[in-house]
Amino acid sequence: MILSSWANFSFKEPPSYTKADLLGDIDPTRHHDFKKLRSKYTTKESAYLRDEVYDAFKEMWKAAEKDDISLIIVSATRNRSYQSGIWNRKWNSFAGEENSRAERILQYSSMPGTSRHHWGTDFDLNALENSYFTSGEGLKIYNWLIANAAEFGFYQPYIAFNNYREQGYREEKWHWSYYPLASKFQRAYNHLVEYGDLNGFQGDEYAEKLQVIDTYVNGVDSWPKNHD
Ligand SMILES: [Zn+2]
Repeated sequence: MILSSWANFSFKEPPSYTKADLLGDIDPTRHHDFKKLRSKYTTKESAYLRDEVYDAFKEMWKAAEKDDISLIIVSATRNRSYQSGIWNRKWNSFAGEENSRAERILQYSSMPGTSRHHWGTDFDLNALENSYFTSGEGLKIYNWLIANAAEFGFYQPYIAFNNYREQGYREEKWHWSYYPLASKFQRAYNHLVEYGDLNGFQGDEYAEKLQVIDTYVNGVDSWPKNHD
């Protein structure tokens, strides 16, 4: 008797992500967990984020506006096939040895299947250049983000190398991530994704040779409030 009632009991499952979610094999325009951004939040004709991330971004945007800071998303969710297009284009335009070619692309661009942009938790703000954020309006925006973003759950995963981050992409002052969700994706990624999943693009054998999961997927800053 007791056994049969247990059998009917439905346990609440912890959040689980499929490999497709983690590797970016998704179409955000048709995925029910994503929303299209209103045009005032982005320069793109069509940009998507996960609902929870978009809600948090809107809150941050409002607070920024009150302080005369205008945040604008220049890139949001990108799926794996889009990232393959970026990768293959760069691969074909760079000269030199293959492994140095891969490492050169990896200074700023992800290997297909390894980008945080696949997850719908991350976006790029205002300008894709560090120099923009070092003076004038850009510096004001950056200082505001450093002071306030964490309150809304956002942080800059690719900060300059420091004690908490010793490898991976170069610094990206424009790239911001929604930690409450992205940290779950990162954990799931480390459980589920293997080097064999990273294929289908030029030079894909360098995924394993360069240990891109350890070096790049995990080469991010920790949550700034955990820094001691
Ligand atoms: Zn980015």
